[in-house]
Amino acid sequence: MPIPRASAWPEGARCVVSLTIDFDGPCWEAGRGLSQRGYHAHGRYSAKRGIPRLMRIAEGHGVPITFFVSGYDAEAHPDTVAEMQARGHEVAAHGYLHEAWDVGAAEPELLKKTHDILTAILGKPVTGWRSPSGRKTALTMRTLKSLGYVYDSSDKDFDLPYLATIAGEVQRDFVILPNNTSSLDDYPFYRVSWTPTSEVLAHWQQEFDATYAEGGFFNLTIHPRSGYGSGTPSRAGVIDALLRYIKARPGVRFLRMHEIAQWCLREPARWQFA
Ligand SMILES: [Zn+2]
Repeated sequence: MPIPRASAWPEGARCVVSLTIDFDGPCWEAGRGLSQRGYHAHGRYSAKRGIPRLMRIAEGHGVPITFFVSGYDAEAHPDTVAEMQARGHEVAAHGYLHEAWDVGAAEPELLKKTHDILTAILGKPVTGWRSPSGRKTALTMRTLKSLGYVYDSSDKDFDLPYLATIAGEVQRDFVILPNNTSSLDDYPFYRVSWTPTSEVLAHWQQEFDATYAEGGFFNLTIHPRSGYGSGTPSRAGVIDALLRYIKARPGVRFLRMHEIAQWCLREPARWQFA
């Protein structure tokens, strides 16, 4: 069976790259009933240091960011969220309290709550979502659609965008933008294996090279936290070096997630892969 390839990237692009940052601020601790101070203050680093540093680096390369933001973090840092949009980045939803547990029947209410908070700050509705835990159900998807969302970036079962399926029905107006299919995520390196930054950079460069050779989709997920994130100087330096490395290749397009979704949904039949 031949490997499906992206044949319809925007404007003849050879490879599409999205830099996505999950805010993961104090919501992470709040959701677990932790104090947000002392040992549990890593989330507070996101807005104070990580986000400004990573925005400066990305903007230095002319690269737009898609920020996935929880309702709690947006309430705690509305100016930061407004600034993301003002500087040309995309804001999308990421739970209310970064719920890393099954929320069951309460999910529609939680999704609506965060949606309303973000809409009030941004002055317009967001159109994308990433599950804080990776969990999702048909109820999640139906709710997202009812709120006007057009993409979800939670799945790990493919490495190109593809049309979502809800209860067996292919959706021609909703696309999955898979994430972290190959540890294109800082969390496991910095939280689990304590990998040195030089090795993280080498891993992501190799992954990019292989994705580029296939004409694929390189969807990097990072966090601005201290602790497991990439907000600190040397880890942010990995992002700086990686963006420089990627930009040296011809035919790469850096896109915000809603741009990718819109592109796919213009000709949905091309993206019915999985
Ligand atoms: Zn998160």
